[in-house]
Amino acid sequence: MLDVAVEEARQGLAEGGIPIGAALFSADGSVLGRGHNRRVQQDDPSVHAETDAFRAAGRQRNYRSTVMVTTLSPCWYCSGLVRQFNIGALIVGESTTFRGGHDWLAEHGVSVTVLDDARCVEMMTDFIAARPDLWAEDIGE
Ligand SMILES: [Zn+2]
Repeated sequence: MLDVAVEEARQGLAEGGIPIGAALFSADGSVLGRGHNRRVQQDDPSVHAETDAFRAAGRQRNYRSTVMVTTLSPCWYCSGLVRQFNIGALIVGESTTFRGGHDWLAEHGVSVTVLDDARCVEMMTDFIAARPDLWAEDIGE
């Protein structure tokens, strides 16, 4: 499932954006929606990978059985989205370059898996080194 999110992150990078991708899956493993950070592309700081994937999935009757997969530990905004809609599971590509709210989500009953995926770590490490200004903007520093 992480492969879909990584594809999205790479697409974002190719577009000149921030390489964070995500996808929302149903319990049977099918993709409900996928997306990537489009802060730069759409001049919109609210389009994070998770919100983009969430919006692409459209209306779902219930989110408890869905799985949010993201290349990077979710920021507070996206952690809030997972909690607000009662998404049951979260799979995180890596939390080395940025540690968001995944521990908080685990404390509140979300099934959290951190994969420590080398592709995700390398992509963010390279991006942060290349565009520290853009990264600081994205995390509000
Ligand atoms: Zn976010």
